[in-house]
Amino acid sequence: MSTTLPPSLAAIASCVNGYDPDALPIDQAREFIDRLVPRLQTTESVPLRSALGRVLARDIVSGIDVPAHDNSAMDGYALYGTDLRADGDTVLQVVGSGLAGEAFHGTVQPGQCVRIMTGAVMPAGLDTVIPQEFVRQQGDDIAIPAGVLRAGDNRRLAGEDLARGEPALSAGRVLRPADIGMLASLGQGEVPVRRRLRVAFFSTGSELRSIGETLDEGCVYDSNRYTLWCMLQRLGVDVIDMGVVHDDEAALREAFGRAAADADVVITSGGVSVGEADYTKKVMADLGDVLFWKIAMRPGRPMAIGRIGEAILFGLPGNPVAVMVTFYALVRDALLAMSGATPQVLPLLRCVSPRPIRKKPGRTEFQRAIVSRADDGNWHVSVTGSQGSGILRSMSQANGLLVLGHDKGNIEAGELVDVLPFDGLL
Ligand code: AMP
Ligand code: MG
Repeated sequence: MSTTLPPSLAAIASCVNGYDPDALPIDQAREFIDRLVPRLQTTESVPLRSALGRVLARDIVSGIDVPAHDNSAMDGYALYGTDLRADGDTVLQVVGSGLAGEAFHGTVQPGQCVRIMTGAVMPAGLDTVIPQEFVRQQGDDIAIPAGVLRAGDNRRLAGEDLARGEPALSAGRVLRPADIGMLASLGQGEVPVRRRLRVAFFSTGSELRSIGETLDEGCVYDSNRYTLWCMLQRLGVDVIDMGVVHDDEAALREAFGRAAADADVVITSGGVSVGEADYTKKVMADLGDVLFWKIAMRPGRPMAIGRIGEAILFGLPGNPVAVMVTFYALVRDALLAMSGATPQVLPLLRCVSPRPIRKKPGRTEFQRAIVSRADDGNWHVSVTGSQGSGILRSMSQANGLLVLGHDKGNIEAGELVDVLPFDGLL
């Protein structure tokens, strides 16, 4: 149990420079959220493969040298570098062979060499490997032409990947395939990770129908629960899908109460706009310490933020594109921080905009964009058709978000702009 009470939302707001809930710049919203959200402390141990995408809970220090011995980087012949002649062929007698996992243990005199395979331990004293494609075979001897090799070439040193006692990975890392491989190279079968964040979510709105229900007049299928579910899956959190909650005070109270009791985070969509006539805002405000923001961003202006019980509440707007953009812009980093992950700035792609783009200073815009390689070899960006915040198709067609900063004005043809690509390698 925590002994210190978390600061009130008013106290957090007073720490954020330029805080204005009715026209909140996105950087101030991010700063507020970062101050609001607690960091998970609970850890668990999981088998190595299950650690992919999890947050490392402790620093990992290498307990061994990787590789454990000097070994060959090539298939070829191991030799003494001092035998190499600068003025003509170096002729060496082959006295044995070493395979990966089956070292050569004999002694080697100057003027001799050992056939060696990639990964095989270097015979004692030998420091250089000539790749086999460079040598001429002459009976039991090999001849190496002058100038193709220097002493020390093609040898991997013990501990060159990781030396014993060297820090391998830091706590807070979201583990990627290379990290899992590196942990395997250390012989680590179990990994200490933070427990997964639990996120409950539901959609609000009496016009929403779930898949399988009849689409009555004026109704729409609930798509936000699906985009949210998918984005949350990608973040590796545990999700609790609570369905659609209609505009009914008792049903909303019950849903918010249950979500806050079961989860670390509650995410809703819909019902937070200005002049919204339904009960969502009222119930949020009754049950928790909640602020209603108008964020200087597009799409996605209205949002509720706060605490219900010990759970953090993100009340996202209802429009399907606005849900996704506010999630990426404000919720994603907060969930990672809560999960214990060290903050990472997402890399942006600098692209040429061949056409002018209209943009008002004083808000951050996220336009749905398609990035492609132009004939001149540069990356060019174009905006996908209509940018209406309800047009989910524009999001599906896009392969990135064009990010136009708060102070930026119109973009001229040929200007460089920042794009957040949707897909990365890892
Ligand atoms: P609201 O923020 O509740 O005023 O909703 C804004 C718009 O988004 C309205 O047109 C809603 O019908 C639509 N909308 C709200 N929630 C969803 C949802 N879960 N799936 C699809 N559309 C939604
Ligand atoms: Mg609504």
